[in-house]
Amino acid sequence: MKTKNMGFNTKLIHSGEFEDQFGSATVPIYQTSTFKFKNAQHGADCFSGASAGYIYTRIANPTIRALENNIAELENGYDGIATSSGMAAITSVYMAQLAAGSHIISTASVYGPARVVLEKDFSRFGVEADFVNTADMNAILSAIKKNTKVLYIETPSNPTMDISDIKACAEIAKKHNLVLVVDNTFATPYLQKPLDLGADVVLHSVTKFINGHADIVGGIIITKDKDLYEKIRHAMVYMGCNMDPHQAYLVLRGLKTLVLRVERNQENAIKVAHFLESHPKIAWIRYPGLASHPQFELAKKQMSGSGSMISFGVKGGLEAGRKLMDSVHLATLAVSLGGVETLIQHPASMTHASVNKEEKVKAGITDDLVRLSVGIEDVQDIIEDLDQALKIV
Ligand SMILES: *Cc1c(COP(=O)(O)O)cnc(C)c1O
Repeated sequence: MKTKNMGFNTKLIHSGEFEDQFGSATVPIYQTSTFKFKNAQHGADCFSGASAGYIYTRIANPTIRALENNIAELENGYDGIATSSGMAAITSVYMAQLAAGSHIISTASVYGPARVVLEKDFSRFGVEADFVNTADMNAILSAIKKNTKVLYIETPSNPTMDISDIKACAEIAKKHNLVLVVDNTFATPYLQKPLDLGADVVLHSVTKFINGHADIVGGIIITKDKDLYEKIRHAMVYMGCNMDPHQAYLVLRGLKTLVLRVERNQENAIKVAHFLESHPKIAWIRYPGLASHPQFELAKKQMSGSGSMISFGVKGGLEAGRKLMDSVHLATLAVSLGGVETLIQHPASMTHASVNKEEKVKAGITDDLVRLSVGIEDVQDIIEDLDQALKIV
């Protein structure tokens, strides 16, 4: 079905669908590693590109293509590249855009492994990286060097909830001939459309909101143009970062309810944020939907909602935060985010444990920071759970 001019919810349900010989109403799982050629000429044509037939699942697969076409439409992009994980999406983009002697500027509070892989691995191949506060345009401008190729931003960032101005970053990127990459995992294409704001590449850990049910790990990359798409797809295929058909099927299934889930996640998060903000045991809170967020206005301008990720500190620092995490019953003490269930974790000792201590402090990942991913349970139960745990702290 042609869904290009239809609404976002219609796209969620129908984009990427295709007719098969049985009239399947949903996209089937094509659980096959390889595809039969009709004859030798057809095989040769598939390889040369003269025929559009499928060859091998690492290269492309119908279930995976359905997901790629769907999310590319949601992000208003050229096409999508699904990957085995969010990190596979990130490393495929790095691999396609960086080379020995090139330089990347990234958000200081970027997802921990997205930083560590540059510092520990890409550095061995001569790639230089700088991590700056990308919410500050002057910090970006002064980090630009002759060999800078990529400006990589995560907004809102993990776990400090800093907001970078995508439009302003796009202007800088254009002027300095950089590729602007945006990790849109926290916002989802429902709340934020980086390509419309001038980004060249948008990527997601679909493990989070897009799949939404905490049962798979996966990633996706969407580009604005064909040239970038082909370069990044090459990196994905040759490094073997492909998604699996069964994984793609589960993501397609979770994706259908993205708007319903994100709306409810967010409605709950706003109430939880107000509860925490007025609680005497809370030292500070960062949530883009609160007027106290330093970039509240920018968040309102570039996002159509404030999402459901909250960072806060408990009075009494790390020990008090630990006590809180050990005292909740409904919230699950686990990393990851963006699912139907409420999750709580401590970035300094968990997701960002591999980031050097000094750099963590510079990026605002303090020892007392607790990260909450608000689920879609009944909000009074989430609040009561936090309330009883805070009494124990
Ligand atoms: C989880 C996450 C990633 C990495 O994704 P995986 O699916 O775990 O590999 C990247 N960016 C952000 C913002 C994330 O939350």
